[in-house]
Amino acid sequence: RYYLNRIEKIDAQIDSYITVCADEAIQAAKKADERIAKGQAKALTGIPISIKDNMCIEGIRTTCGSKMLESFIPPYSATVIHKLLNEQAVILGKTSMDEFAMGGSTQTSYYKKTKNPHDLTRVPGGSSGGSAAAVAARLSAISLGSDTGGSIRQPAAFCGITGMKPTYGSVSRFGLIAFGSSLDQIGPMAHSAKECATILNTIGGYDCNDGTSSRQEIDFESLLGKDIKGMIVALPKEFFEEGIDKEVRESVLAAAKKYEEMGVCIEEVSMPSLKYAIAAYYLLSSAEASSNLSRYDGIKFGYCMPHAKTYKERIERTRREGFGDEVKRRILLGTYALSSGYYDAYYKKALYIREKIKEEYNKIFERCDVMLTPTAPTVAFKRGAIENDPVKMYLADICTVTVNIAGLPGISTTCGYDKDNMPIGMSIIGKAFDDAKVIQVADAFE
Ligand code: GLN
Repeated sequence: RYYLNRIEKIDAQIDSYITVCADEAIQAAKKADERIAKGQAKALTGIPISIKDNMCIEGIRTTCGSKMLESFIPPYSATVIHKLLNEQAVILGKTSMDEFAMGGSTQTSYYKKTKNPHDLTRVPGGSSGGSAAAVAARLSAISLGSDTGGSIRQPAAFCGITGMKPTYGSVSRFGLIAFGSSLDQIGPMAHSAKECATILNTIGGYDCNDGTSSRQEIDFESLLGKDIKGMIVALPKEFFEEGIDKEVRESVLAAAKKYEEMGVCIEEVSMPSLKYAIAAYYLLSSAEASSNLSRYDGIKFGYCMPHAKTYKERIERTRREGFGDEVKRRILLGTYALSSGYYDAYYKKALYIREKIKEEYNKIFERCDVMLTPTAPTVAFKRGAIENDPVKMYLADICTVTVNIAGLPGISTTCGYDKDNMPIGMSIIGKAFDDAKVIQVADAFE
């Protein structure tokens, strides 16, 4: 009730929720109370959580931030939702997001253009901006977001919270509305690395409903509190060059100093392929999106133009009116990149860059335990500043996309504040399935 009251009082200014499930939440809270009374409480029993609106919950409208899914009520729940409900977590509602998770500002949502709780004239980041703002403003205790190219970590950085994209395959994607299937991962957004570990231990694990789910088990909490002395932390020099705001750079380098004082060895490394990462990411993610989004034809799901004369006209008009500009741009880019005659020139090259980036990471992690980078080149920018300039928006993803391209775990936590008191985020990245170590290093700083 505390959270529901806060949502009612404050969310009109922040616009973090698309749907609030008040009745269901009260019911779930009562059940949680019973379980606690019986002494059967688990880690998340009774914890009020919000869910990004691209994860299906049976019977609850799931919009993905798009007009296309305005009336979509899923007949099933995502695996992560089942796992939360099994522990009697309390789902408060569905949070706003960039349409189909394409963006970094939450300003392309068809429903709620979320504001940053630290400064309402700024964006909360995106695409999981509703989740980040809800956690930062205490409109939910914790949240689940999804990250295809930075959508958990960047809004976590902009809103001053902690967000983690776990290793690809470690959390089931079943019931997550697909954007770029080889890149998408669900992950926690919370107030600390410790909390993220607890949430991941609930939502993680093998799922036969997800063909890319991994059988390798991870205990995300296993290294919490263990000493990080003697570890080698890599600082990739390309992540600190031109384009990264001075205050951000200095703050992350100050964090590196702090790690040194904790007995960690800082080592400069290089990732020469970083300069191709944005191009590769936008080709790969858009190619996959163009294929994933072909299912929205006005027949199978959600929005549909009723008075079309032919099948073709129905599809065309549904997609013209149901999708926003950014989604159309990605579909066009992806379809173009995959079309015969251009495949070798674009998609194939992007795959090649993907391999290169993986190799460069492998090399770094042969010697180093984790890598430290800024999470984003700037702090949260003003609403309206760059959202209408796609190229500027795309370039701002430079610090996060390689982690998805290589399928690695990455966590963002706050390392400082700029002169306007806006939070600055740093990211700890590790090799695949080293999630516990990544959490351990972030936790040591926090
Ligand atoms: N900002 C990136 C994009 O627009 C990342 C999105 C995401 O991770 N869902 O594609």
